Amino acid sequence: MTSEPTPAPARSDFIRDIVAADVRAGRAKTVVTRFPPEPNGYLHIGHAKSICLNFGIAAEFGGRCHLRFDDTNPVKEEQEYIDAIEADVRWLGFDWGEHLYYASDYFEQLFAWAVTLIEQGLAYVDDLTADGIREYRGTLTEPGRNSPWRDRLVAESLDLFARMRAGEFPNGARVVRARIDMAAPNINLRDPVIYRIVHATHPRTGDAWCVYPTYDFAHGQSDAIEGITHSICTLEFEVHRPLYDWLIENLPVPSTPHQYEFARLNLTHTVLSKRVLLRLVNEGHVRGWDDPRMPTISGARRRGYPAEGLRDFAAMIGVAKADAVVEFGQLEYAVRGVLNRTSQRRFGVLDPMKVVIENYPAGQTDMMTVVNNPEDPAAGTREVEFGRELWIERDDFMEEPAPKFFRLSPGREVRLRNAFFITCTGVVKDAEGRVTELRATYDPATRGGDSPDGRRPKATLHWLSAAHAVPAEVRLYDHLFTDPFPGSDGRDLFESINPASETILTGALVEPDLAGLAAGETVQFERLGYFCADRDTTTARPVFNRTMTLKDTWAKVQAKG
Ligand code: ATP
Ligand code: MG
Repeated sequence: MTSEPTPAPARSDFIRDIVAADVRAGRAKTVVTRFPPEPNGYLHIGHAKSICLNFGIAAEFGGRCHLRFDDTNPVKEEQEYIDAIEADVRWLGFDWGEHLYYASDYFEQLFAWAVTLIEQGLAYVDDLTADGIREYRGTLTEPGRNSPWRDRLVAESLDLFARMRAGEFPNGARVVRARIDMAAPNINLRDPVIYRIVHATHPRTGDAWCVYPTYDFAHGQSDAIEGITHSICTLEFEVHRPLYDWLIENLPVPSTPHQYEFARLNLTHTVLSKRVLLRLVNEGHVRGWDDPRMPTISGARRRGYPAEGLRDFAAMIGVAKADAVVEFGQLEYAVRGVLNRTSQRRFGVLDPMKVVIENYPAGQTDMMTVVNNPEDPAAGTREVEFGRELWIERDDFMEEPAPKFFRLSPGREVRLRNAFFITCTGVVKDAEGRVTELRATYDPATRGGDSPDGRRPKATLHWLSAAHAVPAEVRLYDHLFTDPFPGSDGRDLFESINPASETILTGALVEPDLAGLAAGETVQFERLGYFCADRDTTTARPVFNRTMTLKDTWAKVQAKG
């Protein structure tokens, strides 16, 4: 019998309600959404929320979701990021079919529309510098002032725009601005820049262009070209919506997309911003975009988070209009639910201590039958070697046990999981008095971990046969930032980088069959957590990342609250 995955709960949120109403009223025959990343970094878990929302809605309403790269800034964009983004969306379990687009595919059309605006007197070429534009812009409380170039002749603007395109001017010499209202209370409407000069090689269009549309000019028009019915984005774009609507009204676009904003995902103890993540990579705080500590999708994958866990998390947090910060523990809770169902159990010892079973014959090996996954009977059982010399976890022993310590100590009996009861009979110490080895006896009548006379030791330990265990490197992870809200209230987030976010253990030991585990596969080391084989694994030495411990911090907090 296989355990069935729990069905996703029927979802409802304010965006799905809008889409459903549009479908019912016939305003949207086919629901078309899009996920529009800028390829200036790797995707993070916040993007996963947006991906699940956009692809999820398209699937639920029988529509389609486009993957569109908003590649309007060649200075920051790279092919490496384009490839990584595609791989991450696919890995998350979504498929855009033939609907892969690039804003750069529309450069010719966007240029023509900027010309249209100039011809209508709705845009002009401005010779102010970036500083000048800022000075004239005004503030939240004061209106802006018109640029001295605002009323230049249409023909002059058209000529200058053509010469900008021809490469006559250096970066920043001139821009094209929409001619809206310098006194508008919304600063986004104070003659926003729609085209700028950038002499840079674009990952897709190469050197064909040296003028590029701004994000704000490209975004809505790209949606209109693609027939997007529901342009879903995060709240920071809400104040840009009047500009997008103004452009759509004033241009001969083939469709009129509507934008809906939802609250971005924030997570405690980490930062969901490509700009900050890029700094973490470039300044060497982590070993790359897919470092297991990174909140990127590729980092989560390398850490051992299954895609299903990220999708479950997105469903669990839902979609709302109010900004909030989600506990990192809630992400772990969602992922742990999947791992608990799907991961096989194995024995691993992180900090080994030798135990010699004095009444067990030297040279003998017994096979113990161990259940692979109590949550999934179909995973079956395996045979694990047991011998006279074993490894246990060093902190499962105390020579002078503290009051609530019920594990191994001299004279005390414990259960070795799925094997035998053992009793500690003595210790061996080094010159400094440190315990280096334990002596014990076992009770052959307790085979399998049960006693015929009903004896029940207070502790059950994991263990490995010393003759069979294989060495492994194990990497333990903690939060990337010690501050639950890094960078908030003006604090420098780089100062709260956790110096102990990674601990590398080189002396760990694992069951022999784990030497062959493929990179990306996750198992549970009994009592220690979930561990994922890292791509640094070699035939000589497996490397494991601890995905997370077994302890659930989040559900406990919920129960108390
Ligand atoms: P960042 O600030 O990390 O660079 P971004 O918004 O600039 O993010 P884009 O590539 O423009 O990155 O984002 C693509 C889509 O993902 C956008 O629609 C954006 O609204 C959405 N998105 C980005 N960050 C989050 C987040 N934290 N939560 C939910 N959606 C997000
Ligand atoms: Mg952005």
